[in-house]
Amino acid sequence: MDFQLSAQQRELIDATRRVCEGKLRALAQEADTPERVASLRRDMAHQGLLGLNMPQQYGGVGLPLLDTLLLIQIIQSVDAKLGGLTHRTSTGAVGAVLELGTDAQREQFVGGVARGEIGISIGITEPDAGSAATAMTTRARIDGDQVVLNGQKIFISAVKDNHYTLVYCRFGNTGRASDIGAVLVPHDAPGFACSSGTLNMAGERQYELFFSDCRVPRANVLAEGSAFAKLISVYNAERLGSIARMLGSAQAAYEYALGYAKERKQFGRELADFQGMQWMLAEMKVKLEAAQLLTWRAASNANAGLPSPLETSVAKVYVAQAAKEICDDAIQVLGGYGYMTEYPVEARYREVRGGSIYGGTMQIHKNMIASHILGRKLSQWPTGTKE
Ligand SMILES: Cc1cc2nc3c(=O)[nH]c(=O)nc-3n(C[C@H](O)[C@H](O)[C@H](O)COP(=O)(O)OP(=O)(O)OC[C@H]3O[C@@H](n4cnc5c(N)ncnc54)[C@H](O)[C@@H]3O)c2cc1C
Repeated sequence: MDFQLSAQQRELIDATRRVCEGKLRALAQEADTPERVASLRRDMAHQGLLGLNMPQQYGGVGLPLLDTLLLIQIIQSVDAKLGGLTHRTSTGAVGAVLELGTDAQREQFVGGVARGEIGISIGITEPDAGSAATAMTTRARIDGDQVVLNGQKIFISAVKDNHYTLVYCRFGNTGRASDIGAVLVPHDAPGFACSSGTLNMAGERQYELFFSDCRVPRANVLAEGSAFAKLISVYNAERLGSIARMLGSAQAAYEYALGYAKERKQFGRELADFQGMQWMLAEMKVKLEAAQLLTWRAASNANAGLPSPLETSVAKVYVAQAAKEICDDAIQVLGGYGYMTEYPVEARYREVRGGSIYGGTMQIHKNMIASHILGRKLSQWPTGTKE
């Protein structure tokens, strides 16, 4: 067990921070249209900031999962849009394509994402299947060399900036999780429609997707059922990517508050001279370090890129809570200025708040941890209604 980052990892973090703090941050802050996001994506690919953990064979950087998370964290600490792009193109849907896809699919989708040519969203949630994801009803039917989808998704991230959604859907009629597979649906497919989106509290949009006899080439099917367990085990890497984003936002809020406490004076002294402030800063530091260690453990122990479900859930529950508290304390350190949008810490709180909800809510992850420590399956369904 080694609790030190290597000199090489530290250099990589510093170099990545320098690259992002330059032109890229300015471009990210102006990237408010799909065209500008596409241009930013190409610039990031040029700098080697996409597909961090994807194999070099498919145009990725080929980093281990831990190094990938370290870089997602530092990139997110510079700018949330940059952090989102690195996360989604590294630990996002591409992970599922790499794990379950054919060589042709890997070349097209992993390669396309790593080269900055395309982006892929993930479509799991439905209006009546949120935490109970396996209650999804979106259906897929093979029809010759095509697959036909019918159904609806909700709360899907980054759809307007992306070109495909990896849609989880049912191929069978048993009502069991084993019916569930996944299809890469292009956003220009006939029968596909996307809402104009709902603004979330972090200033991003979540989209509703509608599939009405939506026809897609059969070559875009990633798995025809019997894939839910595998898809979710890959999804744990996605969860760690979004956890690293929360760490990046919390780190930025902590660093800003620390600097501010050494500058701002009241009662003729720096805020940092007051013990009430010192303890608050100390607690922020403790939470940030504990949160990082749980995340890094889950990444270090990942077997062939697939993290343990238990270690992922433990990291998720702790980091989501710690990140909210760190950002909330950062607002408090800045007093009235912390609550104002001209200062960066309130936005950091809004960025991390969603982490307690997406990728499985805190309560669902606690259910999974409890199931593990009690050694029994804790079905949430009324007795006898589902497996
Ligand atoms: C910012 C953001 C981005 C998202 N991006 C995506 C995306 O890209 N793709 C995608 O597919 N989805 C996405 N989602 C959807 C997200 O995964 C769901 O919101 C989440 O799974 C919860 O589902 P729900 O909103 O329907 O809440 P519900 O399932 O209705 O839950 C409501 C409340 O009840 C609690 N609850 C439910 N069941 C239980 C239980 N058994 N035990 C204890 N408590 C329970 C929940 O924890 C929650 O507090 C995103 C959501 C957000 C907020």
